[in-house]
Amino acid sequence: MATKTVSKSEKLLTVWLRDAHAMEKQAEQVLSTTASRIENYPELKAQLERHLEQTRRQADLIHGCLKRHDGGTSTLKDTAARMVGFTQALSGLFVGDEIVKASMGSYVFEEMEIAAYKILMAAAEECGDLETQRVCQSILREEEEMARWLDERLPLITRQYLSRAEQGLTAKH
Ligand code: MG
Ligand code: FE
Repeated sequence: MATKTVSKSEKLLTVWLRDAHAMEKQAEQVLSTTASRIENYPELKAQLERHLEQTRRQADLIHGCLKRHDGGTSTLKDTAARMVGFTQALSGLFVGDEIVKASMGSYVFEEMEIAAYKILMAAAEECGDLETQRVCQSILREEEEMARWLDERLPLITRQYLSRAEQGLTAKH
């Protein structure tokens, strides 16, 4: 009976898909916590909520790619559970310059995702997994779109924040 040999590259692709899934579960937590804490920046809040929906689909798509590789044996639930504890400490509305820091953090996160999906696409191609390559390409487009949105809005968010700070509106009393 012939046993299917799994190449080193395919094993690594599986590991990286698992990392990407953990990354998306973390993104889900951070986006949802961040959006819920925003009160005075409705455009940013709406965009984060839109990307949260995309992120949930991305996690499902990556899960689908993983299942084709490891037959669903990976411990996805453990990873997701670990991520919850990380963000649950934050609550309440943003005060001081937290909104600027959160915007910066969101932009950095999207750039990390862009790099991760470029790496995954190359690895998937190397393994001949064209379905994973295609899925990662479609996710990459959404991450690039989100990064571009933030890239364009960071100056505006900063100006809005500074203007509110000048009026003494940024601290919660
Ligand atoms: Mg994502
Ligand atoms: Fe993203």
